[in-house]
Amino acid sequence: MDTTQHPTIQHDVSLKARHTFGLDATADKYIEIQHPSDIHCLLDSGKLQKPFVILGGGSNMLFPYRYHGTVVHIATKGIRVVVEDEDAITVSAAAGELWDDLVRHCVAHGWHGLENMAAIPGTVGAAPVQNVGAYGVEAKDYIERVFATDITTGKSLIFTTEECHFGYRDSIFKNKMADRCIITEVWFRLSKTYEPNLAYKSLMEALKMDGLANPSARQVYDTVTRIRWDKLPRPEDMGSAGSFFKNPIISPSHYNHLKEIHPDLHGHKDGNGYKVSAAWLIEQCGWKGRNMGRCGVYVKQPLVLVNLGGCTFDEVRNLSEAIMQDVEAQFDIPLEREALFSIA
Ligand SMILES: Cc1cc2nc3c(=O)[nH]c(=O)nc-3n(C[C@H](O)[C@H](O)[C@H](O)COP(=O)(O)OP(=O)(O)OC[C@H]3O[C@@H](n4cnc5c(N)ncnc54)[C@H](O)[C@@H]3O)c2cc1C
Repeated sequence: MDTTQHPTIQHDVSLKARHTFGLDATADKYIEIQHPSDIHCLLDSGKLQKPFVILGGGSNMLFPYRYHGTVVHIATKGIRVVVEDEDAITVSAAAGELWDDLVRHCVAHGWHGLENMAAIPGTVGAAPVQNVGAYGVEAKDYIERVFATDITTGKSLIFTTEECHFGYRDSIFKNKMADRCIITEVWFRLSKTYEPNLAYKSLMEALKMDGLANPSARQVYDTVTRIRWDKLPRPEDMGSAGSFFKNPIISPSHYNHLKEIHPDLHGHKDGNGYKVSAAWLIEQCGWKGRNMGRCGVYVKQPLVLVNLGGCTFDEVRNLSEAIMQDVEAQFDIPLEREALFSIA
């Protein structure tokens, strides 16, 4: 007799409160993974069939009215020390841990590096997927290993930092391994000595204003949290997916040409090109604070599209496409969405 507890499959489950944009959406099937062994039970049972999508906190995903597939929600918990010496520590966090809980835990224990990424919504397991980043720091700077289960073979996989192929809001998990693996655990290498990273102008200015010339990690954590929520809508107040578009990277000749016409163009050198502020481009096209139906461009930050109440998936798609068309027509720059459309 098979006594294995398989994770339960629920039917017709509302996703409205399970993603931060808050669209009215329902999944045909919904499975919650509470323990790593649930993943193997699920794969062994043969019940996970395409189409499916892995869901963390839903803060970078949007769903249509009906998702005709299976949503697998990762809810595993646990933070532990793997190894430590006098100077540094390797910390492991389960994929379902909230990212900000991990950051707070590390700050409280004097393990440094993640504090500039305070208050990013979502889970640890999603952090390597788009290599989350904020205020001059990216997850890749501290990720040592990513553990995953291959959905097609059930095998355990371990990725070193190099093998993750991290880029700007990008990784192997969005490319070669997209839909291939469930991230189960992430290891972070953190320092026991605090050296503030204050290269990001607005963070440095905010700390200066508070008279914090030599801030502690906790003070940086608190300041980042405050200035983030000054300019971004809190998911509990207004639905959004954070930055809806990536900042585009353009060639030096394109940048120089635009800079001649628009001396106030916001951009900086990035690798072989220039990274340009998508918020600036969108604002120049007159979209800041405008809306189409019940989807709007956030008045304080035009990179963020917001749910003005009862917004539909089509309204988000239409508004994002209109913005992309305008930016391309005016600046010859194709914008790329950072937020993900999960359609099945
Ligand atoms: C208000 C707001 C502010 C934000 N600010 C930032 C910011 O400053 N910087 C930044 O980088 N992002 C930001 N974001 C975007 C978002 O927080 C990140 O993309 C975050 O990593 C998403 O985590 P999640 O758990 O919600 O992932 P989800 O939205 O659930 O999923 C995102 C992607 O990861 C995949 N995924 C999730 N968990 C796993 C897993 N265990 N295994 C395999 N694949 C998985 C999903 O399939 C999907 O492809 C913001 C979002 C909001 C709403």
